[in-house]
Amino acid sequence: MNAVVITILLEVILLVNKLRLIFLFILLIPQGVMFGMAYDSSLASNKFFSQIEAVSLASALILAMIMPSITVQWLVGKSLDSMRQLCYQVKQGNYRELLSLPNESRNEEDDIIILMRDMNWMARQIEIRERDLRHAADELWQSRNYMDEQNKILLSVNTELMSVQERLKERTIQLEISCSRMQVMAMTDPLTAIANRRCFFETLERQITELVCNYRHISLLIIDIDFFKKINDTYGHQGGDTVLFELAQIIQKNAREGDLAARIGGEEYAMLLPGTLAEQAVSIASRIQIEIGKHKFLLDGTQVAVTVSIGICTLPQSLYCFDREKIYYYADQALYYSKHNGRNGVSIYDINTHSITKVA
Ligand code: GH3
Ligand code: MG
Ligand code: MG
Repeated sequence: MNAVVITILLEVILLVNKLRLIFLFILLIPQGVMFGMAYDSSLASNKFFSQIEAVSLASALILAMIMPSITVQWLVGKSLDSMRQLCYQVKQGNYRELLSLPNESRNEEDDIIILMRDMNWMARQIEIRERDLRHAADELWQSRNYMDEQNKILLSVNTELMSVQERLKERTIQLEISCSRMQVMAMTDPLTAIANRRCFFETLERQITELVCNYRHISLLIIDIDFFKKINDTYGHQGGDTVLFELAQIIQKNAREGDLAARIGGEEYAMLLPGTLAEQAVSIASRIQIEIGKHKFLLDGTQVAVTVSIGICTLPQSLYCFDREKIYYYADQALYYSKHNGRNGVSIYDINTHSITKVA
């Protein structure tokens, strides 16, 4: 009996596992009762009694040792199966079928239950995160579509803008062409196609400033057709226009680069000769006079003789503060001198002596 008590105690100390303890009690209690009863009976005197007692005790111990493992294996095996099932479902994307667990949460839970609870929690977390990810992917897709649409709009706007820019460029070129044409028109005499009065006076103003600053001479010729009214009266206005045109060509032909030939009135022309001395101006005027005299003006089949009167004024380089309008006035005075002295001649105004001399 003492051996039995010692063995139980040893077992209790060794088997900390509750399950083994339970099994041990389950097996030993009926055995103890049974042997307790047998001690009071004749069975106790049987020579095999103590051997039977030892064998049954040993088998109880062995069973107590083995049974918990088998039970645990059976229980864990079942749980593992359901966990494997859960993993498979999660892998397939099914998060609905979770592991069934006891509802009540006890203070001390089995490790397997804790593991299963954690696995359920993990599956739920994966489901939530997957849903969030899908949602984010959807939003990303929508944003991408929106960006694509915006890009398309931007592209079409850009194309439109480019075509507008192209049109604008063309319009600007056309405008520039029209503008320069207008400028030319504003500065050109429509009948003779040489510079007009406006162009002449603007150039005169500009050149006098430039030449005076650069200490250079400038000469001005004013040319007026003699008895032009008669030509008009005899050959009509159209005949007169022909003379005006052809005479302009002769004057223009005699203008060098930098000179300006202009029609400044009805039958009045002017030539601005920068850097030209009085003697050179006289020779140019005489040349023009001779060429006009030689030119054959054909009006209504008749060769008409045309003469001109010319007035010259030369502004010398020494004059810094010269009144610009005076050069024109003095040249005009010289022209009238030619008119009053037999016409078809060239007169020059001397700015130093304020006297006029007929030179041709
Ligand atoms: P003078 O020798 O004194 O200069 O006499 P003139 O006849 O040339 O001068 P006048 O001023 O008496 O006459 C100028 C004429 O020029 C008068 C006008 O009808 C004519 N005229 C002015 N502009 C034009 C034009 O564009 N075409 C034509 N055909 N004639 C014009
Ligand atoms: Mg005249
Ligand atoms: Mg005149």
